[in-house]
Amino acid sequence: MVAGRLGELVDPLLLDGDPVGGAELLPLGGGDVVEAGEDTHGWKDRRVTVPSRDQVHRAPKVLLHDHLDGGLRPQTIVDIAGQVGHELPAGDAESLGRWFAEAADSGSLVRYLETFDHTVAVMQTVEALTRVARECVEDLAADGVVYAEVRYAPEQHVSDGLTLDQVVAAVQAGFDAGTEAAGGRIVVRQLLTAMRHQARSREIAELAVAWRDRGVAGFDIAGAEAGYPPTALTPWGNGLRSRPTPARWCGTSRPSTTRSR
Ligand SMILES: [Zn+2]
Repeated sequence: MVAGRLGELVDPLLLDGDPVGGAELLPLGGGDVVEAGEDTHGWKDRRVTVPSRDQVHRAPKVLLHDHLDGGLRPQTIVDIAGQVGHELPAGDAESLGRWFAEAADSGSLVRYLETFDHTVAVMQTVEALTRVARECVEDLAADGVVYAEVRYAPEQHVSDGLTLDQVVAAVQAGFDAGTEAAGGRIVVRQLLTAMRHQARSREIAELAVAWRDRGVAGFDIAGAEAGYPPTALTPWGNGLRSRPTPARWCGTSRPSTTRSR
């Protein structure tokens, strides 16, 4: 909460509220905005400076939760699907991009999850994983991200015969190439995820430890929460110094106390 008194400039990037999401707070080019009336913090009229969209875009950003299989370029999916013979719901990048956007905004969990069937299907070879990872870094760097932790479940990328270790190595090769292409302006780390419905959490945790000095920043769990409490996912028991950080969990519901924005 950094709302300033009338006439006092405030750090636009630390504004209370959501200046990025509110179009009415983003006059063309940004600038000062006087908000009249008393707000919830007791300020009477207040004058705040909001950033322009361009300023937000250029500001260095840190991204602590992103999904490698959730941000592929439509053209990449089309290219790889053609190579591996995977059938897509649309034949060209533009209509495929529309299909993904509609499925993601449909309000249907089933339709939303169907998008991952296609992204994961085209991420089953070293070449594909490396390309997707490289493009991920390039896209993040283009958005002004300077540090990112990108999660995915290695066990979902072994259906064509890769080992878990090969999967992590392929992703790291892509991250390295993307970082180099971005001139080192970004640092990207892997978060290795264990799927709740599988029984490989110990294996994935050990994989994360094995790669911790080579690009892996952490381990977490994901997937359906009903019937798969985190306590059932800790077969390594005494070997783990502390429980996984709840904020890292990703699923269909989270305890309100751990929900992060
Ligand atoms: Zn998530």
